[in-house]
Amino acid sequence: MKPAILSLAPSDLDAWLAARGEPAYRRSQVMGWVARGVQSFAEMRDVPRPLRAALDESFRVTSLQPLAVSEADTSLTTKTLFELDGGHTVEAVVMRYSNRSTLCISSQAGCPVGCPFCATGRFPFGRNLAAHEIEEQAIDAARQLAAENRRLSHVVFMGMGEPFLNYAAVMDSVRRIADPERLAISPRRIVVSTSGIIPRIEQLAAEKLPVTLAISLHAARDELRDVLVPINRKYPVAELVAAAQRYAVLSGRRVSYEWVMLAGVNDTERDAKEIGRLLRRKLAHVNLIPFNPVDGTPYHAPSQKDVRRFRDAVMAEGLNVTVRDTRGREADAACGQLHERVMRQRVTA
Ligand code: SAH
Ligand code: SF4
Repeated sequence: MKPAILSLAPSDLDAWLAARGEPAYRRSQVMGWVARGVQSFAEMRDVPRPLRAALDESFRVTSLQPLAVSEADTSLTTKTLFELDGGHTVEAVVMRYSNRSTLCISSQAGCPVGCPFCATGRFPFGRNLAAHEIEEQAIDAARQLAAENRRLSHVVFMGMGEPFLNYAAVMDSVRRIADPERLAISPRRIVVSTSGIIPRIEQLAAEKLPVTLAISLHAARDELRDVLVPINRKYPVAELVAAAQRYAVLSGRRVSYEWVMLAGVNDTERDAKEIGRLLRRKLAHVNLIPFNPVDGTPYHAPSQKDVRRFRDAVMAEGLNVTVRDTRGREADAACGQLHERVMRQRVTA
């Protein structure tokens, strides 16, 4: 199979062009088209025809193959299931708001962390994505949005996978997505969400890459977090919050703490008090996510009344708290859910 053009290091593409006697500026010309999401080299109008043909003989414009698309919220949310080289699949979700457009991106096919409420954690781990496979999801989203006169403004690593178990490729992809010659999305508008791999949080602080860090907290005591986020057995919650706080202080950026609300499990008065004790006086923002039900799990979504009650209880602890809208529920938008549905259909087909 021909390599995807974005799998080449810039210097390799330079060498490839130089070997054909092409001027150096061709690289940014070709990359500009690739970043705009052209579907073929033939569309690169200002690139000489013989070069377009040579590119087409050697490379693919993308390695991602869309397998299924699902829409929700009267087309405000679009979720695409992509097949990767080798057959694994991942999802990317585009969410359109009045003043911004956000892409939820995948960093791994499957996830080895195995949180019991998460659809992604329930099927076997596939593999890490390469940086270009992550970047290609963003380019595809930017292309979809450009056709609607919209611009991709934010990227969140909240799709399939644990970004910090694929650290190098994720950081490489962030730099690519931020590259002014490519998608030019400021790192500040990129959120990396982690279940809590402490050494990588420390490494991130040294990168000088001002991304927004989100910590999937979900429980403030080890006994419960050991169950909900099993990596907690290795990286306990107090140490996790200490590492996140160091990142917040070093980067000067507030950390976002995610809390998926599971009815009766982690939405009690006691939980609100524990969050308060853990995060008070920290550079922290709490983001409550009502559980998006996943078949075969023992968990239930809280009622709207319980969501409000819990939000008020967390606020009363003196914390900044918001409730995430449940955008995309009908698009199977919690990570892994479209994958699950399509794979089920494939098996039964
Ligand atoms: N692995 C990383 C990033 C992907 S998950 C992490 O866990 O942070 C992105 C967020 O979606 C996490 O906070 C995760 O806990 C949450 N999530 C997973 N399944 C969910 C579901 N069914 N309903 C609501 N949120 C869910
Ligand atoms: Fe993995 Fe995140 Fe899902 Fe947990 S919530 S299984 S870490 S993708």
